[in-house]
Amino acid sequence: MMTADFDRKLTIPVEAKAMYPLSPVLAETVRLRATEIRDVLTGRSDKLLLIIGPCSADREDSVLDYLNRLRRLQDRVTDRIFIIPRLYTTKPRSTGDGYMGPLHQPDPDEQPDLFRGIVYTREFHLLALSETGFSCADEMLYPENLKYLDDLLAYVAVGARSVEDQQHRLTASALDIPVGMKNPVGGNLEAMLNAVSSAQHGHDFIYRGWQARSHGNPLAHAVLRGYTDRFGRAYTNYHYEDLMELYDAYASRELLNPAVIVDTNHANSGKRFEEQIRIAQDVMNSRRRSAELLRLVKGLMIESYLEDGAQAPGDGRYGMSITDPCLGWDKTERLVLDLAELV
Ligand code: PEP
Ligand code: MN
Repeated sequence: MMTADFDRKLTIPVEAKAMYPLSPVLAETVRLRATEIRDVLTGRSDKLLLIIGPCSADREDSVLDYLNRLRRLQDRVTDRIFIIPRLYTTKPRSTGDGYMGPLHQPDPDEQPDLFRGIVYTREFHLLALSETGFSCADEMLYPENLKYLDDLLAYVAVGARSVEDQQHRLTASALDIPVGMKNPVGGNLEAMLNAVSSAQHGHDFIYRGWQARSHGNPLAHAVLRGYTDRFGRAYTNYHYEDLMELYDAYASRELLNPAVIVDTNHANSGKRFEEQIRIAQDVMNSRRRSAELLRLVKGLMIESYLEDGAQAPGDGRYGMSITDPCLGWDKTERLVLDLAELV
């Protein structure tokens, strides 16, 4: 017997979409951006994808402030870099305790409210789009929730703790936007490439009470985020040799659009957020040293916000992460301008 309390029946995606519809004008913005991103992943464009923003989109005011700054920065590097902001609305702590992100707690200081959370996350992505013209990236924490946002997103990441999960892989195979499959926490590259392969194939599966058939997602690709050993020590996987190893692993498989995005934080930086600057530049240098890597490495993922570092939830500092530590705005701006020179 399940002993959970089933408190209320929630609104379904088609109702949420009717309540907060995507206008034809904004739908066109999403479509045009999707085309540009696809062109990078298929090799038609040689821009660098930059998936950048806070670890969690914890507050509307500071995140929108951040996105507006990012908009102006995007306009300065538009011929070299294509920015996809991180607007991450689900954020469990790896310990399984505490703040779970805006979907569960639209206000981090209040009790969980999943109904408000569903509405809030859709509204938030819509607001980002209408105010800044950015369709954003989010993480697929709960595959069945993707349908609340699937018309708004530019990019989906499958996290290190989810990438070996069947429902995540199957749901990724049903999307027509890029899905980044992260290496699992322990670093197994085969498991990551199996996830990419699974997402690139079509499947029959159960989705939200339906028998569904997916067509496979040719834009599913790898994301390297570093890994930890059995003692919890962090190890990197962004160096030239790591990237070459992934290139060879891709070459031994029949996968479409071989690509990798390098996550410069998490186990790659050991969460020393300032190291992201050096790591990003190192990856750009590797790209410049090898024609193979120039083709393979399509972008970077950077955790960045208004203020350097992180605080405890409840500390209330504007623009500072309440989950993983982020690079502050001034350093972010400098870094993005420098990266544009290295593309
Ligand atoms: C993240 O991108 O914030 C994240 C939690 O990543 P990972 O799944 O790599 O830990
Ligand atoms: Mn993070």
